[in-house]
Amino acid sequence: MIKEAIYHRPGNNYAYAYDEKTLHIRLRTKKGDADKVTLIYGDPYDWTEDGWQTSTAPMTLSGSDEWFDYYFIEIQPPHRRLRYGFEIANKDEVLTYTEKGFYEEAPFDDTAYYFCFPFLNAIDIFRAPSWVKDTVWYQIFPERFANGDISNDPLGTLPWASEEPKPNNFFGGDFQGVIDHIDHLVKLGVTGIYFTPIFKAKSNHKYDTIDYLEIDPQFGDKDTFKKLVKICHENGIKVMLDAVFNHSGFFFEPFQDVLKNEEHSRFKNWFHLNEFPIQTEPRPNYDTFAFEKSMPKLNTENPEVREYLLKVARYWIEEFNVDGWRLDVANEVDHSFWREFRTAVKSVKPDAYILGEIWHDSMNWLQGDQFDAVMNYPFTNAVLDFVATESIDAKVFAEKLTAVMQMYPENVNEVAFNLLGSHDTARVLTLCDDNKDKLKLLYLLMLTFKGTPCIYYGDEIGMSGGRDPGCRKCMEWDESKQDIELFEHIQTLLSLRKKHKVLANEGEMRFISAEGKVLLYERSSYDESILILLNAGGKVEKHLFTIPEDYELLFGQEHSHSLPPYGFGVYRKR
Ligand code: CA
Repeated sequence: MIKEAIYHRPGNNYAYAYDEKTLHIRLRTKKGDADKVTLIYGDPYDWTEDGWQTSTAPMTLSGSDEWFDYYFIEIQPPHRRLRYGFEIANKDEVLTYTEKGFYEEAPFDDTAYYFCFPFLNAIDIFRAPSWVKDTVWYQIFPERFANGDISNDPLGTLPWASEEPKPNNFFGGDFQGVIDHIDHLVKLGVTGIYFTPIFKAKSNHKYDTIDYLEIDPQFGDKDTFKKLVKICHENGIKVMLDAVFNHSGFFFEPFQDVLKNEEHSRFKNWFHLNEFPIQTEPRPNYDTFAFEKSMPKLNTENPEVREYLLKVARYWIEEFNVDGWRLDVANEVDHSFWREFRTAVKSVKPDAYILGEIWHDSMNWLQGDQFDAVMNYPFTNAVLDFVATESIDAKVFAEKLTAVMQMYPENVNEVAFNLLGSHDTARVLTLCDDNKDKLKLLYLLMLTFKGTPCIYYGDEIGMSGGRDPGCRKCMEWDESKQDIELFEHIQTLLSLRKKHKVLANEGEMRFISAEGKVLLYERSSYDESILILLNAGGKVEKHLFTIPEDYELLFGQEHSHSLPPYGFGVYRKR
């Protein structure tokens, strides 16, 4: 066996508390190297005259990526403490792997050889709000969803959809528009809205915050927003707001004060000003997001700034009863601030959801003390590569997603925020070259996958558009121009997800077969199993897999031994 490939550490995604009683333990080996992996374990204090008392239990192969196999076991130590090691066997050898290295014979004279999970302290468990794993989100870019009140339109507002979206044009979308169209969301079946920023700002995207405690007047007033949240809640829809705490907008009052009063400004420690006079060209001489002079980085180490931002975090929950925060550029803000942020948010609403915008390995933020989830862009990239651009086959797709799921604990995967596109990417239909069959498969994948999925407004009725600003077109409300078939496809998937909890994270996820364009995977729990079979290619594909006879078709078409182009079937065990 390749010992160098064998890996475990007693923390993060490799050993963690799943709930008050249960530990999850994982081991990585070289792909195909081991035939059998066994956990050797015991309570560290359980000694008799025969020595340390240990047990063994077989681990299961939970997935494989390009290079590695991952083994898994769920265990409930009676005293919530564990010392453990691994016996790894194949036909040539048997090894014991411990924290101190490899042994041919397991050493039992001292527990110090073994990996240690010292104590399962309930307070340290990663706990996301329980409602999130059943939630299907709908992302609204408020300026472009619906104009329900022309009296708040900003100067120069254009007639709805009369032009292509531009970085600086306005169409007058607002909260009243969302209220007017709540039926559309209820009919679709979504249970959460993620709003891109609604706070006072200059641009149409509102990421350039001027005042974090005020609503942008073009969206309506605070009463209208209160009413909107109430109507959402009455319809079983949660509300998540977007905040930029990494940096402020250029017209944020404290920054304007700094520009005016330089080193005499009482706000000079609110930012990272490196020298005076302040310079914006050619590159700003203060810290910003990227090198963007209009996005000065906030000094979240300054207690005054903290106090202000934490007040913001609490205010919108206390006054308006919102259910979650999506945090822009979350990875560039200090961890210490996020820990305080979590405490502040959860103190006013214990089941509020905290979602960070992070595009890379996010384990550091997902230990239970900061975020509940991050935006799962690795998922986005893999499904788009597999279905939209067809640049990877089913095997590579399964390997990539296995690698992503193995990066995090299971309780983290259950609330991962899965998306196909957003206001920052090209519309998914455009990425599919306007092929609606591909789009249907993408939604099938996302809505039967582990995590909490998000639909970008308008995708459900077949809207297209390239990268920003193209992806920010006005919502199409003319029913004759909406793709009703697509809407019904997504609606059906949402109702299946609601009816069968294994699809909404009450179960495991396992790839069964992945060859060429054909993928088969299972969502299952102890009493339910659903198989999803699909062909991501434009040709008829033969496959060797037989759907067992005790499975009935829930959605899609019946297929035996071949699948039509972009064909799929969802089957449930009777
Ligand atoms: Ca308006």
